[in-house]
Amino acid sequence: MSSPGRLVAVSNRVGPVRGAAAAGGLAVGLVDALRERGGLWFGWSGRTAPAGRVKLHQEDAEGVRLATLDLTQQDFDGYYCGFCNNCLWPLMHFRIDLMRFERRQLEAYRRVNARFAQSLARLLRAGDLVWVHDYHLIPLAEELRRRRVRQRIGFFLHTPFPPTEILSTLPEHESLIRAFFAYDLVGFQTQEDLVRFQEHVRRACGGTVRGDVVTAFGRELQTGAFPIGIDVDQFHRYAFTAPGNREFARMQSVLRGRDQFIGVDRLDYSKGLLRRMDAFGRYLEDHPKAHGKVILLQVAPVSRGDLTAYRSFRQELDREAARVNGRFASFDWTPVHYLNRALPRRTLAGLYRASRVGIVTPMRDGMNLVAMEYVAAQDPADPGVLVLSRFAGAAQYLREALIVNPYDGEQTAATMHLAREMRIQERRRRHEALMRRLRARDVARWRRDFLAALGEAPAARRGSRKAR
Ligand code: ADP
Repeated sequence: MSSPGRLVAVSNRVGPVRGAAAAGGLAVGLVDALRERGGLWFGWSGRTAPAGRVKLHQEDAEGVRLATLDLTQQDFDGYYCGFCNNCLWPLMHFRIDLMRFERRQLEAYRRVNARFAQSLARLLRAGDLVWVHDYHLIPLAEELRRRRVRQRIGFFLHTPFPPTEILSTLPEHESLIRAFFAYDLVGFQTQEDLVRFQEHVRRACGGTVRGDVVTAFGRELQTGAFPIGIDVDQFHRYAFTAPGNREFARMQSVLRGRDQFIGVDRLDYSKGLLRRMDAFGRYLEDHPKAHGKVILLQVAPVSRGDLTAYRSFRQELDREAARVNGRFASFDWTPVHYLNRALPRRTLAGLYRASRVGIVTPMRDGMNLVAMEYVAAQDPADPGVLVLSRFAGAAQYLREALIVNPYDGEQTAATMHLAREMRIQERRRRHEALMRRLRARDVARWRRDFLAALGEAPAARRGSRKAR
């Protein structure tokens, strides 16, 4: 059965395609499109197996074919824990102090990309549109082209793209950048990320830039900014229907008139959690009247807990939360409530709705969907206020949030106060404007715009690759 125009999504993690969990992260952007086009979703199975027993698993779920490959333990360690999360993740978030580069991990990264390409190439059909996601898979197109794959291949980077001075600290960065040029389209979250990529190609790779077309390594590449969004109406519904509205009511009865500030983040050093705790402590220091009347609920599920940088960061955060509580708590009030757990999305929606202020203060973030979810979950008649770091991609779009510099603890603390005291008219005005922005750039538009641009990637440029 040949079905031209099939969408093939490739990402490190695949699924889920069912249930409320599927409404989060990448799945929300992809599942509908995959269903519409009878698509294939390819990636890692989430399992490790001994070298001889590594398998390709295939199943159909809700009209989507899922194809996933096991990794050996050695590949998992080198590729995922090693090069992806100990080297590229900190690099992409401007944290070269945490970047650990080892050649054998880079080799594992290349090896896994080559193995993915080998399995995927066999599953592709003429006319497929291939959409590769995120920093785990930058070399995938190069490996596919090596295997004579001629279909259009697009890449979207979910993280920020760092400035050239930072990127150049990565040994062998040129080979990584060259790998982008095997794609037909490379998309970034924001215009700033796009410009940093173009600048890097110009300054470090001797390339040229004309509009959105970047030329280097003898090839032309179409680039663009495609800010990701959320499904606004669906998230709003979560907050106002069971079980989200039950969680909201339960939270309200627990709060008993106290105001809640909420933070929801993976436990990651890029999210600014330490400084956020510190700023909250300052806020309490500066506003004794808030004592007993405000709590900070921080939901931060452990992520990448096997990595040293994450373990020590978690210990620091535990200490910081304990410090603020030790300093300010009374027998009937604990200012910081800190959960290391993932919660169902509908529960989260209810908690956002019950929170007077949403605190989203990453030190650096590709976009940040939590900021958007917080806004979407609010009651338009009595909305909460979003405090947002200028270093989240979302700050480029959510202009009516209270924008802060998370490196400035005094300003962040003062803004927490401002947010809590904001009058209802202004809260409504800002919320209405933010909702308009969310709707104008929702996840359906992100997907449509990217796929339309990929479908239109100029044939001449794709043809010119055949010569290489
Ligand atoms: P990142 O992709 O770096 O984790 P984003 O803010 O862009 O950051 O996306 C995070 C997603 O994970 C959001 O959809 C958010 O709702 C979800 N999430 C974060 N923390 C939790 C949690 N404790 N329980 C469930 N979902 C969570």
